[in-house]
Amino acid sequence: MSVIQDVIAMVLEKDPGQPEFHQAVKEVLTTLEPTVSKHPEFVKARIFERIVIPDRVIMFRVPWVDDRGEVQVNRGYRVQFSNAIGPYKGGLRFHPSVNLGIIKFLGFEQIFKNSLTTLPMGGGKGGSDFDPKGKSDNEVMHFCHAFMMELYRHIGPDTDVPAGDIGVGGREIGYLYGCYKKIVNDNACVLTGKGIEYGGSLIRPEATGYGAVYFAGEMMATRGEEIKGKVAAVSGSGNVAQYTVEKVNQLGGKVVTLSDSNGTIVDEAGIDEAKLAYLLGLKNLRRGRIKEYADEYKGVEYYAGQSVWDVIKDHSLHVDLAFPSATENEICVEYAQALVSNGCTCVSEGANMPSSLDAIKLFQEEDVLYGPAKAANAGGVATSGLEMSQNSMRLSWGREEVDSRLHQIMKSIHKACLEAAQTYGRPGDYLMGANIAGFIKVANAMMAYGVV
Ligand code: NDP
Repeated sequence: MSVIQDVIAMVLEKDPGQPEFHQAVKEVLTTLEPTVSKHPEFVKARIFERIVIPDRVIMFRVPWVDDRGEVQVNRGYRVQFSNAIGPYKGGLRFHPSVNLGIIKFLGFEQIFKNSLTTLPMGGGKGGSDFDPKGKSDNEVMHFCHAFMMELYRHIGPDTDVPAGDIGVGGREIGYLYGCYKKIVNDNACVLTGKGIEYGGSLIRPEATGYGAVYFAGEMMATRGEEIKGKVAAVSGSGNVAQYTVEKVNQLGGKVVTLSDSNGTIVDEAGIDEAKLAYLLGLKNLRRGRIKEYADEYKGVEYYAGQSVWDVIKDHSLHVDLAFPSATENEICVEYAQALVSNGCTCVSEGANMPSSLDAIKLFQEEDVLYGPAKAANAGGVATSGLEMSQNSMRLSWGREEVDSRLHQIMKSIHKACLEAAQTYGRPGDYLMGANIAGFIKVANAMMAYGVV
């Protein structure tokens, strides 16, 4: 058996019950196979074994009191996976599905994503099984404060700098940061995604969605194509989905779908600027459901209980581009086949690990331009890196400056993926390119430190 297969077998044996983590390890390690013969020093130093074990895992109890005066208890996590190239960096996810395996998969992917951004950031991730849906602002605040009562001792501007993810947006970051400042009495940049009034960066809310569209644009340009005139499917209706829609519109494309965990809307006329403004109010202020979009606008279909990919499959909806922007494993091989059959030629992953391993294989076999999450959605963490820089310098850049830096970073990531894929014998394989380019930098840093 190869070294890589040995390491995968070790993870399956030693980390049972963590299917998402297993999937991420397989996805990354199998594409690293060509680095084994080129870098025998990595094998000797057991870099492959070392990189799948987090630096540390922090798990804690989060007790809080709800609006009825009842005591509630949740589980909190922070996985500090690798600080080889910089402070741990990665979001916090609040969703009932959160468990250790999910946080480990996200933290592991984050190592390579952050490396790809060209900025000095290590990989980490955290969160809780707390569900902000249906909770009052007061309850969310109490939970965030209780969560930070433990987390504060593990983070720091040069140690670990969390951000948002599913269920953690501007409101939650505000409550978390307020509590941190109260306990520690300083203004250190220990969280990104902050409000603009207290150290946040312009374009951070937009960055992941914008970046996924920039990445799609770069991939399409390799075939002489552009976003203009194309029809796009977007899943989810949260932060990433919203700004994916905005950027597709700005570049002359049309988005026809959105979803949440209850259902999907199809708006064949396109989600234009005015409808997007309605969506932002619906989701971010009123915290409503996507069904209300269909109630608001004529000619919009709502499919209860169906995902975007179900609708494309069952109703032969034509799309040129797909931006999965909800959650992991949204696209199984059946949905991937439906996308291909209905005209999709480019998939740029806004969500983390939205495509199953079989789905990715099918995209690649069918010559679909496939942009893996760790490259395509790296714009979010890259702009968090820019927020850290602005905080350190005690100044803030304008919108255009941040957007242009983001665009440049997405171009660099695209180039790095293509170059690594070419060097390691799989031209045009963005998955292999992203994994290898991200890995080599981290592995070289680990080599420099010796065995620690
Ligand atoms: P939000 O919480 O803002 O939105 C998530 C959206 O996806 C909601 O519409 C939600 O619907 C839907 N969704 C979440 N889980 C499920 C599920 N299990 N089944 C169906 N729908 C679901 O999160 P973000 O937009 O921030 O994150 C979306 C994805 O992008 C995640 O994979 C995240 O890890 C990834 N990502 C986010 C970054 C960021 O900067 N925010 C950076 C990089 C990656 P509902 O409201 O019904 O739950």
